[in-house]
Amino acid sequence: MSTGKSVIDSAKKQGAKMVDVKFVDTFGTWQHFSVPMGELTEEVFEEGFGFDGSSIRGWKSIEASDMLAMPDPNTAFIDPFCAVPTLSLTCTIAETGTKEAYSRDPRGIAQRGEKYLKSTGLADTAVFGPEAEFFIFDNVQYDSKSNGTFYSVDSEEAAWNTGRDEMPNLGYKIRHKEGYFPVAPTDTQQDIRTEMCLVMESLGIKVERQHHEVATAGQAEIDFRFDTLVKTADNMMLY
Ligand SMILES: [Mg+2]
Repeated sequence: MSTGKSVIDSAKKQGAKMVDVKFVDTFGTWQHFSVPMGELTEEVFEEGFGFDGSSIRGWKSIEASDMLAMPDPNTAFIDPFCAVPTLSLTCTIAETGTKEAYSRDPRGIAQRGEKYLKSTGLADTAVFGPEAEFFIFDNVQYDSKSNGTFYSVDSEEAAWNTGRDEMPNLGYKIRHKEGYFPVAPTDTQQDIRTEMCLVMESLGIKVERQHHEVATAGQAEIDFRFDTLVKTADNMMLY
């Protein structure tokens, strides 16, 4: 278990200059704002970061918009994608004044769910393991206008590109539903999936496996080890 003090000490040792403060909105999007390292004191872990919740979809009205983001020291990591060394902290949302958990914060709902399970006596703990699949496309376009609408995705692996002039096209395209899971050169995304696994592992996610998935056009899967609801949800956001 980390504490505010241990997180600050470790971040300073790693040269962090900024802190990225993250939370999840009701629709599941990770939201963030950043503060200089000097703003992160031990008190902040008790008192929270104040922010205006009126522009977060479905949260607060403008005349009562103040909210608190309470950083969880156990979620700390140095963000591998920031140009300047940046400590990332995931937060639970609280009301200002009372510090009561905010009812529409999904992370808070997950924490209350875990407590409720314990209170029922049905179980001490429940674990969750997602099978998360995704596509790596080369191009994505869509539009919806008053005079027309369309979507279009593309991938060098796609079945519909057998006849495309690729100077040269070597013909290794994945037929529909045949992506599970021939080796290279049919699978063109081995290296990027591995790179993703190693970044996740460096951030503390216990990766179990990666592979191409069934569909043509770059469908992928990376599996990570089950954990409690909140921990798995935090991992899923990081994923
Ligand atoms: Mg699958």
